[in-house]
Amino acid sequence: MRSETLALHGGYRPDIGTKSIAVPVHQTVAYAFDSAEHGAALFDLEAEGFRYSRIKNPTTDVLEQRVAVLEGGVGALCVASGQAALHYAVANIVEAGDNLVTVPQLYGTTHTLFSFLLPKLGVTAKFAETDRAAELERLIDNKTRAIFIESVGNPAGNICDIEDIAQIAHKHGVPLIVDNTVATPILLRPMDWGADIVVQSLTKFMGGHGTTMGGAVVDSGNFPWDKYPDKYPMFSVPDESYHGLIFSAHFGRTAFIERCRSFYQRITGSVLSPFNAFLLLQGIETVALRVERHVANAAIIAKFLKQHPKVQWVNYAGFDDNPYYGLVQKYLGGRACSLITFGVEGGLDGGTKVYNAFELIVRCVNLGDAKSLACHPASTTHRQMSAESQKRAGVSPEMIRMSVGIEHSDDIIADLKQALEGARLC
Ligand code: PLP
Repeated sequence: MRSETLALHGGYRPDIGTKSIAVPVHQTVAYAFDSAEHGAALFDLEAEGFRYSRIKNPTTDVLEQRVAVLEGGVGALCVASGQAALHYAVANIVEAGDNLVTVPQLYGTTHTLFSFLLPKLGVTAKFAETDRAAELERLIDNKTRAIFIESVGNPAGNICDIEDIAQIAHKHGVPLIVDNTVATPILLRPMDWGADIVVQSLTKFMGGHGTTMGGAVVDSGNFPWDKYPDKYPMFSVPDESYHGLIFSAHFGRTAFIERCRSFYQRITGSVLSPFNAFLLLQGIETVALRVERHVANAAIIAKFLKQHPKVQWVNYAGFDDNPYYGLVQKYLGGRACSLITFGVEGGLDGGTKVYNAFELIVRCVNLGDAKSLACHPASTTHRQMSAESQKRAGVSPEMIRMSVGIEHSDDIIADLKQALEGARLC
């Protein structure tokens, strides 16, 4: 089935007992055991089923199946936020002394996680100068355990050459982890190009209405963890916390995601509430329609900004002079994403005046809402980074980042026009 259909039906057929068409909200903590033996079998991961909602919940389970089929994976784990998802994806495969290789164009908090939290746990992130595969390859050593990229960088709007980077990763026996938040599986499925693990902030386009936090880790099932027992002992060595269970032997292709759930989430508990899973499922039902409109509106808005005399530059990968235009054709089917950045005359001061003059476009630090939003990355999402890191991440002091919504494009343009023309920029 195609994405539009999977977004509506993936992971759920009308409930056997009630015939409920909508996915029921299973607002429960625990599940009754038939017997002591049944409980033990569930805890030994021998029987399928639910035992405690920190580990698995029937509503969240539908969301997990839906996100997994949309991304083309064998399984998913949904957690409380995108940030928790990408932390889990990395933490599931590293130990103190290991490192990851990554690109400079990352969402600010991801950069903070890699630069400030992981090093305290003995795991370092090696940042390449650019997103080119050859540069990433130069940083790989025998302690590297993954390459981490954003398919479309926030806010840089760069598009990583996933196929090339996956080949490099696999040549060196490490997985490629891709944050697919900005692109969504509607525009791009990184696993079709060789990615091993995909993470998503469901808070953004997938939920789509700015109401609900959530994140997903999706497993392609393709990375051969057991081929590298010295690098990834967590899959090949008997796990003492699970009575000697060997994840690769027990779960085969789903070893990564099952360990993420049964080891990492069970112990650290960044659980998505069933009600939030329900809200995210409502959002996902229309994600394909919304993304289509986001993309169409973004093309119109980018064109408007480019011709406006007070706008000095516009970064939109849909322009044929943009360095990533070729990769938009290859990976996004020509549909550039709806995250646009631009700078106006008057630098930071001019940008602040325009930003403060928006009336319809909402000033906030979210993206992927149905509503048009704008933020000033240098003072908010990327504030913790040094000026040099900001520059490499594609953030300049005057930059305004716009997440183009699904309103009528004439109304978005009217707001941009009044803000640009009403503000005295110089
Ligand atoms: N990844 C990207 C690309 C993001 O833009 C964000 C948030 O803006 C996150 C991850 C983190 O997601 P969340 O806010 O759901 O924790």
